Amino acid sequence: MPEGDAHVTPDSALNRRSFLARSAAITAVPAATILAGGALAQPASADVLPDYASIPPSALGPALNAQGYFVGRVRRNLYWVTDGTYQAAFLTTRDGVVLFDAPPTIGNNLQRAIDQIAASTRVSNRVTHIVYSHYHADHVGASSLFGGGVVRVGHVETKRLLARDNDAVPLPDVTFETRRTLRVGGERIDLAWHGANHSPDNIFIHLPDHDTLMLVDINLPGWAPYDSFNVNEDVPGSIAAAATAMSYRWRHFIGGHMGRLGTRDDMVVYQQYVSDLIDGVKEAVVAVDPTPFFTRYGNNSWAAVQTYQAAQLDYAAAPVIEKYTGVLAAVDVYTASTAFMLLESVRLDQGFGSQIHP
Ligand SMILES: [Zn+2]
Repeated sequence: MPEGDAHVTPDSALNRRSFLARSAAITAVPAATILAGGALAQPASADVLPDYASIPPSALGPALNAQGYFVGRVRRNLYWVTDGTYQAAFLTTRDGVVLFDAPPTIGNNLQRAIDQIAASTRVSNRVTHIVYSHYHADHVGASSLFGGGVVRVGHVETKRLLARDNDAVPLPDVTFETRRTLRVGGERIDLAWHGANHSPDNIFIHLPDHDTLMLVDINLPGWAPYDSFNVNEDVPGSIAAAATAMSYRWRHFIGGHMGRLGTRDDMVVYQQYVSDLIDGVKEAVVAVDPTPFFTRYGNNSWAAVQTYQAAQLDYAAAPVIEKYTGVLAAVDVYTASTAFMLLESVRLDQGFGSQIHP
């Protein structure tokens, strides 16, 4: 139905916009997952889809405007932009604008947000630098919109992985290995790589003069981690990243996702959630008896392992879902899949429950 159709009341237009903004979340899901899952092979019917707990109001951010974005001040000349699911940030300086990430779901709204702030604060709207948090296309896929006259900054691994995997995102012009301080128009930005976490190249972006830390895809303030513990590649590194984040001085947190900024309290809740889930999977390894699964499935080892682990995940996730319902949004959606990643990490990384045959 066209936007200007007379049947579109303001309310339904708003609902459609918020649906479109929220459907941006699906771009985080690889298409292969949808196809392989088979759930969408049959026409979906909204009536038979499962119910989930309602979202606590504390998880939601400010309303989006008619273009589908919100831009707000973090502190002084540092601003953040969201479409409700993804986040970017930018710093206005006397020499131009430094943009942090360029999620394709926000896309052309990035420059609109910058134009809006530049006009109201009478500064340049020209993006001169783009800092990449990490190489994932869902956070940097709109970088090409800013053309060739921009200095792009990222970790050496960001450059290597983009060069290997993605032709559409301009490579960083300036790279670093462990630390780099950027000074643009009298402003200071401290970049640091503390080892692999969510991805091999994910960096800490600290703005000490703005009391702000940007660390993407680790803690999504107000929300349970996305599927499979945010598809973190290095689980111990990702758990350590939250502790490293807390060792920095900041009050404002930009997590790269969902509709609001974070606080130190959000990081504490996130760390407790992960810690409770790790305790749960370790208890499950000890408490869930594998015998019935192997008895039932005989020589079909995968059937036995799959059903045994499903029982372990349910054992670990159920009390955590109950504890955090109403505290973090969507714990009933994704806690079991995050429990699976944590179970595999305690087994494979830590060797927990590993027994040597006598
Ligand atoms: Zn990512």
